[in-house]
Amino acid sequence: MKHNSDLHCHTNASDGSLSPAELVQKAAEEGITTIAITDHDTVSGVREALAAGAKYGVRVIPGVEISIDFQPGTMHVCGYFIDIDNPELCRGLEFVQEARRNRNPQIIQKLNTLGLAITMEEVQAVAGPDQVGRPHFAKVLLQKGYVENAKEAFTKYLAKGMPGYVDKRRLPRDEAIRMIQTAGGVAVMAHPIQLALENWEAYRQLFLELKAAGLAGIEAFNSYQSEEENQKFYQLAQELDMIVTAGSDFHGETKPTVQLGEFGDVVPIEIEKLLAELQRERRR
Ligand code: AMP
Ligand code: FE
Ligand code: FE
Ligand code: ZN
Repeated sequence: MKHNSDLHCHTNASDGSLSPAELVQKAAEEGITTIAITDHDTVSGVREALAAGAKYGVRVIPGVEISIDFQPGTMHVCGYFIDIDNPELCRGLEFVQEARRNRNPQIIQKLNTLGLAITMEEVQAVAGPDQVGRPHFAKVLLQKGYVENAKEAFTKYLAKGMPGYVDKRRLPRDEAIRMIQTAGGVAVMAHPIQLALENWEAYRQLFLELKAAGLAGIEAFNSYQSEEENQKFYQLAQELDMIVTAGSDFHGETKPTVQLGEFGDVVPIEIEKLLAELQRERRR
């Protein structure tokens, strides 16, 4: 398998373990020529990554992964080639970041009620100056010996429906897609299997609605899906004439089983399609 690009990567601006420059350097060392920076609800790592990209000869696509209001599963939409200084994008992301800041102390309270001694200061220390996400809570629970590994922190406490879970306000999907387009970018559905819909027809219907709202592509290949599911989403995307992307959802040590550049062999053609879609959007 050829590993030469990765359109879904996290840095320590959100819940990845590497700094943006470290991530880009790693890509260069591993022969990965193109990466997109897709931190959760923030673009604060993009500038550093772009500078590192120039230094190491890696093409860096400015991106973001936005958390969307959705049931029954999780909806994350990636925006690619965005203008990170666009005021509307910045306002939207600020709304989601504020929602996180409100949620985090509530998670602490719930965990304390469950008898787990954990403080917001400890979680913030693990997260660093940037945005706090649930993996940071998981890391503190692990360090304190409350769980055997990060996965267990989610299955026992932090996952949706578990006793330490607190929902946060999120952006409506059409608004998020519009925001990405307003910032000059293309919107792509991340790890679609996490939408947790009942059957393929439900996915088809949802993608049709979202396509009408401006969603351009589907991350058909990713580390959450089986090979069979990847193929199924690939077919679905082609059937609906949507762009196919691939990304590992690399988080560094936060998700040690995921390799940077996994699925990179299906990406190159699709980057050109993303750019073509951008040009179409701009002509409209
Ligand atoms: P947050 O953005 O704070 O809601 O946290 C979401 C992040 O937590 C995801 O992007 C993953 O990195 C991680 N995550 C969510 N669910 C799980 C799970 N079941 N197991 C491991 N990590 C998870
Ligand atoms: Fe994450
Ligand atoms: Fe995600
Ligand atoms: Zn991600």
